[in-house]
Amino acid sequence: MHPPSASANASPVEDEEPIIDLHSDVYFMGQALREARKAYAADEVPVGAVVVHEGKIISRAWNQVELLKDATAHAEMLALTGAQEALGDWRLEKCTLYVTKEPCPMCAGAIVHCRPDRVVFGCPDPKAGAAGGWINLLEANPPLNHRCEVTPGVLGEECLFLIQSFFREARERKKIGRMDGGE
Ligand SMILES: [Zn+2]
Repeated sequence: MHPPSASANASPVEDEEPIIDLHSDVYFMGQALREARKAYAADEVPVGAVVVHEGKIISRAWNQVELLKDATAHAEMLALTGAQEALGDWRLEKCTLYVTKEPCPMCAGAIVHCRPDRVVFGCPDPKAGAAGGWINLLEANPPLNHRCEVTPGVLGEECLFLIQSFFREARERKKIGRMDGGE
């Protein structure tokens, strides 16, 4: 499967091409989206994440629940583990986690334990998100001893488009499968 791009049909306007700031949230979210597209191509729910330490990407990951047969293998969990390995420390001080979708409660719990300074996410998850969508484990958490600064909605439309496309395609394939089975 080829992951679609929200801007695939947009015609380029050279004058308006943005200057890429290699330290901006948009740039790093773009890198997380690249990971999400790898998940899409592997038939996984397309969520991607990167961890940035002092302006450098130290870890990249995409959702691998199906591949690893592990319900905990969300992009954030794998990216946090990679970042801890890269730093040789479980404390992710001066780190920012970028993830294309608002973290779930499991990932938010893991984030608080690893203590990155910031979490930046793409599209919100009003039903199950744990960074303010359903609950907020990152900013308002008296029982947990770390608070993360949260920046929502960076490249949110692109991130959401990818997830919606994935589920639309999965539904269509299921329909076709049923039709084949009925013949
Ligand atoms: Zn999660």
